[in-house]
Amino acid sequence: MSDFIPYGRQSIDEGDIQAVVDVLRSNYLTTGPKVEEFEQAVADYVGAKYAVSFSNGTAALHAACFAAGIGSGDEVITTPMTFAATANCVLYQGGTPVFADINRDTYNINPNDIEKNITSKTKAIIPVHFTAQPADMNAIHAIAEKYDLVVIEDAAHAIGAEYQGQKIGSLSDMTMFSFHPVKHITTGEGGMITTNDETYHNRLKQFRSHGITRDREHMNDDHGTWYYEMQSLGYNYRMTDIQAALGLSQLSKLNDFITRRQRIVEIYNEAFREEPEIVIPYMNPDVTSSWHLYVIQLDLDKLSGTREDVFKALREQHIGVNVHYIPVHLQPYYQQLNHQKGDYPVAEALYESFITLPLFPDMTDEDVQRVIHTVKQVMSRFRKKG
Ligand SMILES: *Cc1c(COP(=O)(O)O)cnc(C)c1O
Repeated sequence: MSDFIPYGRQSIDEGDIQAVVDVLRSNYLTTGPKVEEFEQAVADYVGAKYAVSFSNGTAALHAACFAAGIGSGDEVITTPMTFAATANCVLYQGGTPVFADINRDTYNINPNDIEKNITSKTKAIIPVHFTAQPADMNAIHAIAEKYDLVVIEDAAHAIGAEYQGQKIGSLSDMTMFSFHPVKHITTGEGGMITTNDETYHNRLKQFRSHGITRDREHMNDDHGTWYYEMQSLGYNYRMTDIQAALGLSQLSKLNDFITRRQRIVEIYNEAFREEPEIVIPYMNPDVTSSWHLYVIQLDLDKLSGTREDVFKALREQHIGVNVHYIPVHLQPYYQQLNHQKGDYPVAEALYESFITLPLFPDMTDEDVQRVIHTVKQVMSRFRKKG
């Protein structure tokens, strides 16, 4: 039987391994020179002034909500078509996540729906660049300006993606990247916030280290050279030098990873464009996707089987399909917070038809052909006769 092809996985080479081993032989294991180097490298790559690293992307989102001043009574608008962490970070700060439905073509948050959900309590918008196709940032920024809102981009999928020729990471107040192993580059676990704003930068750094500052300029008192101050309630959300060294090594290969992902997507699109039961991803001419996920829609009216039948048939052939995402508001925890099924009909309907196919840089041409062949075989098996 052929090997299992997962929907995504990391690419690690000897250079990555050596970079980690070198740190293990050095003086610093936790937050030291490699962390600063990695932060500077990510800031340079995306074209932002500052970058602050975190132990993971979820911690980074939490810090961004803190830096934005989100607290009890504040509403933050985001998309239901995302991983739960995008909305959870608002709850961590005592705020209220509010969802806006998505666009039928791009699967990203619909700016018209954002505007419909704005109240006097709205404080921020968290758009997600779903699968790495950037959201409609011009429209989102126009709304943010009109209602004086902070914009935090969840770019966990989207390092290297471009919006109207500009890299994601410097367009909004803050942008979050994740370095989980299925994302474009990995640090094992890790996250980053990029920003051009000095105040946000200072708040982010304080939050990730217990709310403590050692910067004398910002202190209330001075007991001596040993003195530091805890000025806010922070966490231990720091990245280690071990992680940062891996991140630096990975970042040097990011453009090659993206090129390979884009090539695989071209081959998939070519193969599936004429398949009557499949809707391939929409290609927005305003943006360049760095392709985190390849999500197709099944036209279930044309199939004799259900999505579950198709999913199981592909898994039986060792194709590691997945589903991104179960809309967040349908999760039991969010249902108990009074979100209703039926509230976001576009996201709910698309969820019913989505399947994610394998996509990662180390996929061989044979892997890609095996996925195509197996998907076509399964489609013809469930094709409605007549
Ligand atoms: C991965 C991911 C996160 C969380 O990142 P972690 O590093 O796993 O904590 C948040 N939002 C989206 C859309 C993600 O895909």
